[in-house]
Amino acid sequence: MSSAPRTYSLALLPGDGVGPEVTAEAARVLDACAAAFGFAIETSEHPVGGAGLDADNDPLPRATLDACLDADAVFLGAVGGPQWDGVDADLRPERGLLRLRARLGAFANLRPVAVSEALAERSPLRPERVAGTDLLIVRELTGGIYFGRPRERTETEAYDTMRYSVTEIERIARVAFEWAQKRSGRLTSVDKANVLASSALWRDVVSRIGADEYPDVALEHLYVDNAAMQVVCDPRRFDVVVTGNLFGDVLSDLAATLPGTLGLLPSASLGGRAGLFEPVHGSAPDIAGRGLANPLAAILSAAMLLDAVDEAEAATAVRQAVESVLDDGPLPPDLGGDAHTADVGAAVADAVASPT
Ligand code: ATP
Ligand code: MG
Repeated sequence: MSSAPRTYSLALLPGDGVGPEVTAEAARVLDACAAAFGFAIETSEHPVGGAGLDADNDPLPRATLDACLDADAVFLGAVGGPQWDGVDADLRPERGLLRLRARLGAFANLRPVAVSEALAERSPLRPERVAGTDLLIVRELTGGIYFGRPRERTETEAYDTMRYSVTEIERIARVAFEWAQKRSGRLTSVDKANVLASSALWRDVVSRIGADEYPDVALEHLYVDNAAMQVVCDPRRFDVVVTGNLFGDVLSDLAATLPGTLGLLPSASLGGRAGLFEPVHGSAPDIAGRGLANPLAAILSAAMLLDAVDEAEAATAVRQAVESVLDDGPLPPDLGGDAHTADVGAAVADAVASPT
């Protein structure tokens, strides 16, 4: 007796710049996975960012948002570009993405950064310090100083509010502890508890969740200034790092410099019904439309999507396929090759379909 295949609805938001180019390759790889692993993906494509502005005068058109809220997963390319620099603040392409994250309830932003021996050679830091780095930053994405009220600016002063509730800290801590359990069992929590009340609460709550619910995970606390130094000087000491919105923003961009290109870094934003998956890089207007973009960040984001919908075997196959392309090519220009975006994507899809 055959059962109906597992089916996932996917809202595909190519966006702007290199977004459509890299999204097409991620979709190609997802299709290869569906064929190889016996599930089905129902994809619908929608404008967002500058493309949303051009189509509907809104960086997050109503129909796009509705499709995302209905989907099992949302995949985004990138938003923004110089052609929309002049639009009103509320209509900026990036606003569309912030609204989408908030509406999806995506409070946990996951950014893995892994640097192989070969990649370390491209790092702006000393290769011997970076080779073997394999860390995961878990950033709280919908709270903290980016959202706290009151916030005000007058002629003579301005202020923001760094606010975290116990509930907000508990839920992000649990996400991080779960990942630490799945990985090497170590978690670093980053705060500024020596100065900030919100950080002192953060530290207490993370400690309590660890002691009560995850006694098997080795928890350490670092101040953010120290953590920034260690990311640069000794990145291999980290496994899972959990931190708030502001510190996570800075630390994750800092960690993104370790491999020497943005073209390899995926991300997932989880918490609501559907996760949002996107490469860490932006729309890269300087190389858009020319087949120069590295699609591996988008493809590795697709692997995170597969993990999130419990297609772990397919996710592993994608990561292995990416490894084999990194070893044997074809490589895109940011990794020293001359392969077209589509050739790299096709090579990964082929490797998924017939692993070596
Ligand atoms: P945003 O404001 O949207 O984050 P940004 O200006 O910070 O954009 P990116 O658009 O990510 O940054 O581009 C930064 C640099 O990295 C550019 O030189 C760009 O060409 C390069 N880059 C970004 N993504 C890729 C990619 N997928 N492949 C190759 N190079 C890339
Ligand atoms: Mg950027």
